[in-house]
Amino acid sequence: MFNIILFGPPGSGKGTQSEKLIAAYGLKHLSTGDLLRSEIAAQTPLGLEAKSIMDKGQLVPDEVVVGMISSALDQNPQAKGFLFDGFPRTEAQSIALDKLLKLKNTEIGVVLALDVSEEELVSRLLNRGKTSGRSDDTNESVIRARIAEYKAKTTVVANYYSTFDKVVHIKGEGSVDEIFESLHSEIDKRMS
Ligand code: ADP
Repeated sequence: MFNIILFGPPGSGKGTQSEKLIAAYGLKHLSTGDLLRSEIAAQTPLGLEAKSIMDKGQLVPDEVVVGMISSALDQNPQAKGFLFDGFPRTEAQSIALDKLLKLKNTEIGVVLALDVSEEELVSRLLNRGKTSGRSDDTNESVIRARIAEYKAKTTVVANYYSTFDKVVHIKGEGSVDEIFESLHSEIDKRMS
């Protein structure tokens, strides 16, 4: 099993690159943002609770997302590996993920961090908001709040995995294919 964390701020291209990576490596894609949006669409109690938090650009409680990831891991016992997208977003989530993977006798192989400037992020997200139907992408103050949450709570995740020498920084600006090639070559180096 080879498990990857695709890491980076909102708008850094994690969703776009995830699709290409799961196709190339046959990994199971686990996006907590997508899982939460499915809960919202199904109007579950969890979805209703999450929506008001997400609409403010804040993070949903750790136990909620860790619970969702834990069941997703259990539901995919045959997976060749997992691609985590938008998770973990706090140090507590990182520690919880490492424990869950250890129970399955596996671990994170690499953390691929996409670096993109803040102005580029805001412009990409506002652009995405025109067509994505995501309410958190249409309002610049919500976008800035998400980037602030990322800086305050999520950058520590890269520090956490750096101590295990698992983080590789990738330039997240350029063409989709160029960025994919960089990710691809870093994964291949670590997989062999
Ligand atoms: P983006 O990274 O583009 O902001 P996501 O789809 O990953 O989009 O997440 C959208 C929102 O869902 C976040 O702003 C947050 O409120 C919530 N969310 C997603 N993943 C997590 C997580 N791991 N922990 C807490 N909240 C999360």
